[in-house]
Amino acid sequence: MNEIRIDNLTGKQVIIATNRRARPIDNRNRQEEHISSELQYNHSECPFCKGNESETPYEIFKVGDENWSVRVVKNKYPTVIEDGDTIKGYHYVVIETPKHNIKLYQYKAEKWRDIFVAYKDVADKCFSDKDIKYLQIFKNYGREGGASLEHPHSQIVALNFTPQSKVLDDNYCKVCEEVESELLAVKRIILDRGNYIVYAPYGSSLQYQLRIAYKHHKGSFEETFSEYGIDELSRLFEDVFKIIYESLGDIPLNICYYIYKDSNCYHHLYIDILPRGSFFAGFEMSTEVYINVISPEEAANKFRESTAYVHVNKVEL
Ligand SMILES: [Zn+2]
Ligand SMILES: [Zn+2]
Repeated sequence: MNEIRIDNLTGKQVIIATNRRARPIDNRNRQEEHISSELQYNHSECPFCKGNESETPYEIFKVGDENWSVRVVKNKYPTVIEDGDTIKGYHYVVIETPKHNIKLYQYKAEKWRDIFVAYKDVADKCFSDKDIKYLQIFKNYGREGGASLEHPHSQIVALNFTPQSKVLDDNYCKVCEEVESELLAVKRIILDRGNYIVYAPYGSSLQYQLRIAYKHHKGSFEETFSEYGIDELSRLFEDVFKIIYESLGDIPLNICYYIYKDSNCYHHLYIDILPRGSFFAGFEMSTEVYINVISPEEAANKFRESTAYVHVNKVEL
């Protein structure tokens, strides 16, 4: 299959080129890549480990007491600062666990719950500053995912402007449109559960990309991060990462949560999970067109074949 598609939400172009899977890849390079992906850090030197709390900047939120589960601190090397001249904002680090070596797919729903409680608190704090328009929450997992420290953490960047690619069209909601068309198409859906659908988006720019979208337009941020909403999303995340691990192993990835506000209204929430099984080269850098060698339809099939998927769906019945 060779086909050009557009991701409706990001506007990115992608060539789905499944025939390129057959191209030879030098094994020696792959092995070197694997070795360099091993993150090295001594626990006693890790600023995010329990016992080293004094080594992090100012703490703005914590779940738990001295036996904390999640801490949020200011980023020591911020992308934006509170009193910047041309741009201003906030940059925080969410230390997701006191445990240095825990893997993403080992997180239970309770762990996701504590992380989402922290996101909600920080989002409220950031948006209480009326200049803040856009909040990007993201997690870089693994060296190829861009993580500079192994200790599990995510980041929150609040900006006083909306990135160009995220400017809203007042006339209609692209997320509603995509949810509707994916529900109709069915073939790319991995889970359709409660208030959410999990699917391999039609215009996936990366192989095995997953998107989680809230199914209703109104109040998606408030409802997602209400007490019930957080419980629902936490259970969903535990199951989604079980499915990813069984299908792709402990793959490096990014998780991106898009939260923005326009005239006091929150935009329709969606979350991308971007496994980094491929890398960008000259073509992507020069054209800004991605090449994806696994079609989203094949990706959805692979996820649905995992035993975790079967188990999750049995529990639902
Ligand atoms: Zn650590
Ligand atoms: Zn919508």
